[in-house]
Amino acid sequence: MSSIQAPKGTKDMLPSDAYKWHYVEEKFRKLSKEYGIREIRTPMFEHTELFLRGVGETTDIVQKEMYTFEDKGGRSVTLKPEGTAPAVRAFIESSLYADAQPTKLYYFTPAFRYENVQKGRLRQFHQYGIEVFGSKEASIDAEIISLAMRALGEFGLNDLSLNINSLGCPHCREKFNNALKEYLKENHDNLCATCKTRFERNPMRILDCKEHKCKGITEKAPVILDFICEECNTHFDNLKGYLDALGIKYNVDPKIVRGLDYYTKTVFEIIHDGLTVCGGGRYDKLIEEIGGPSMPAFGFGLGLERLLMIIENQGVEIPKPIYIDLFVGSIGEKSNFEALKLICDLRKYGIYCECDHMKKSVKAQMKYANKIGARFTLILGEDEIANKSAKLKNMSNGEESIVNLTDLDFLAKLIKEQ
Ligand code: ATP
Ligand code: MG
Repeated sequence: MSSIQAPKGTKDMLPSDAYKWHYVEEKFRKLSKEYGIREIRTPMFEHTELFLRGVGETTDIVQKEMYTFEDKGGRSVTLKPEGTAPAVRAFIESSLYADAQPTKLYYFTPAFRYENVQKGRLRQFHQYGIEVFGSKEASIDAEIISLAMRALGEFGLNDLSLNINSLGCPHCREKFNNALKEYLKENHDNLCATCKTRFERNPMRILDCKEHKCKGITEKAPVILDFICEECNTHFDNLKGYLDALGIKYNVDPKIVRGLDYYTKTVFEIIHDGLTVCGGGRYDKLIEEIGGPSMPAFGFGLGLERLLMIIENQGVEIPKPIYIDLFVGSIGEKSNFEALKLICDLRKYGIYCECDHMKKSVKAQMKYANKIGARFTLILGEDEIANKSAKLKNMSNGEESIVNLTDLDFLAKLIKEQ
């Protein structure tokens, strides 16, 4: 019988790698706190309609990538392909808009997309995301971009580039789409099948097509920055001013459109070695689109697998945690009993400890202690139990000291302080 493997495009997080995820998550939680941002968790699946409305029907995500199925009650549900629409749904459903604004949220979430699996492209991946609701000011765009840059800067990564663009408001978009259609008209027959439908419904999406022939056609297409209205232009100028004031370097890339339909005005990407690690922008119409009040918003998603991949490629060391402070060895039945009691008591002092559960010889127990990187060992034999004292061995320098087993305060202190 063949063994069952994980579905294509998914990855197990194995215990040997867990510390890396914890390290990254802890850094990002701390950073979020510094910015006054609080955590939200939303369900793993939503009504499909949320993403049709939120992400946009002409996007790659909705057209090709969603894990959509009918549940046993005949409802169409979708595993979340991204975190923004669910956060907006929760914000509206719990009337968070009635609280003091802005509302600043962060999350860690898996996301599910039926993708062509390749380097940095999985079918279940994970994101750290931020959403800020309620402010239309460019200062928040800059502050949240500064957070994204700091989040990546925490790991000392070089060669990050920040690209920004403005997609304008629906008014600018209409003018741009018309100009784009005019430009694309003569090449219409050469566009891919998906782009032919985009041509009618959402021409700007064609700029995001990954097909070689479409890329060629759009190379010299008009750019939206030439079509944005005065208000959008001022917002973009303000953003650049704030980024300058914060000392954040950026490139204006008028070709960025991003993969989701909800963006208005600012969009940005942070790229490392040709791979987008973080992408986001402003989405001033989405909350209303999903049935909430008219409120502006800004956010981003940062891919954690891609970040970990870059960290690894650049040789950035993530500190390995200490797993076990003390291994208590035992010889025989009575001593097993005492060893188990001792470690259970010591854990109450915050000491990470283990004892033997495999009936190993003392020699094998010490070998095991060494393998798991225990900082200290202590062996409980009959004499030790009778005298209520034992030898505590520091595994890094071999030093031994006699400790009183009735004074756990002292023993715990000794272990913690060394
Ligand atoms: P791309 O252009 O690479 O497909 P995207 O525009 O679809 O990215 P977003 O939807 O903005 O990406 O998601 C934000 C971040 O999530 C990306 O910058 C990336 O780091 C990560 N990400 C997106 N799709 C995947 C995937 N299939 N596998 C791993 N990470 C992903
Ligand atoms: Mg994509």
